[in-house]
Amino acid sequence: MKTLTRGQRVSAGKLVEPLERFERLREFALDISSTLEYGGLNQQSHSTNEEEMMMKQILRSIVVMLALFAGQAWAQSGKVEVLWLGQSAIKLTTSGGKVIVIDPYLIKNPKTPDQYKNLDALGKVDLILVTHAHGDHLGDAPELAKKHNAPLWAPQGLAASLASLGLVPQELSNRMAQGGNIMPFGPNSVKITMVHAEHNSELVWNNPATGKNEIHFGGEPCGFIIQLENGFKIYHMGDTGLFGDMKMIGEYYKPDLVLIPIGGGQFVMNPADAAYATRNFLKPKYALPFHYATNPFLTGTPQEYMKALGKSSTKVFPINPGEKLEF
Ligand SMILES: [Zn+2]
Repeated sequence: MKTLTRGQRVSAGKLVEPLERFERLREFALDISSTLEYGGLNQQSHSTNEEEMMMKQILRSIVVMLALFAGQAWAQSGKVEVLWLGQSAIKLTTSGGKVIVIDPYLIKNPKTPDQYKNLDALGKVDLILVTHAHGDHLGDAPELAKKHNAPLWAPQGLAASLASLGLVPQELSNRMAQGGNIMPFGPNSVKITMVHAEHNSELVWNNPATGKNEIHFGGEPCGFIIQLENGFKIYHMGDTGLFGDMKMIGEYYKPDLVLIPIGGGQFVMNPADAAYATRNFLKPKYALPFHYATNPFLTGTPQEYMKALGKSSTKVFPINPGEKLEF
């Protein structure tokens, strides 16, 4: 197995040329947006207010057209892109061009590449999924939901607590239960099913009125099966210990790619547990090991996971935070 350098991608195990055109368009659109936002035009011109307003309007239209074009071009390419940002944080671009962010622990994540500590670097966000209330998963999800007016989906108790504490607006904080599924972009599109995880989900919240930490109900922890427009299935396992119903999840949902915790210690599966689940229960085509090396408890490594897995039909991608997989 070849370790990739930052910024490289793989497609079903092969290196491919990056889709630079889309990224350039997105960067260009972002540049124009920030120019509009911070009054860059104002400083660079001596035009009247009316002319400025008109120019801003024209530029806004260009941004919208570029964004539409980039989205359509992506949809035509039919690629699935999985960008890992450390711990369990994933930016998933679906084959239809939707952007789903899962467990976005970014700003305080010691493994997140610096550029992604600026939440603008994610570009557009259509949907946010959170597996449980712990800070290294909930992370920047409330901020991203508000910033993009994007629906956040989480276990029922967590979504209810986020809304009642005022962390996420009620209309964006959506409740879901294990076994339940949603099609957030309409029929014949992406289908997301919440599944079991063997973990906990207390929500620690610092009350600004008292300055003290409070523990709130965070619902039941979960994983997500995400079936994309082209049928490709991704299983984001969240935080979990080994449990027998992974066998049922493997047989019933048949995930193509599993995003699997391997850090071990006192919180999640260790490399041997994860290898057992991969080999005997889940049997995916591909695996991306994650949730390790962010704190002293999570000592498992991808090399230990691959060694424990041995000869296997599952292709493992031991990539680094900031690297992408393409399928
Ligand atoms: Zn956790």
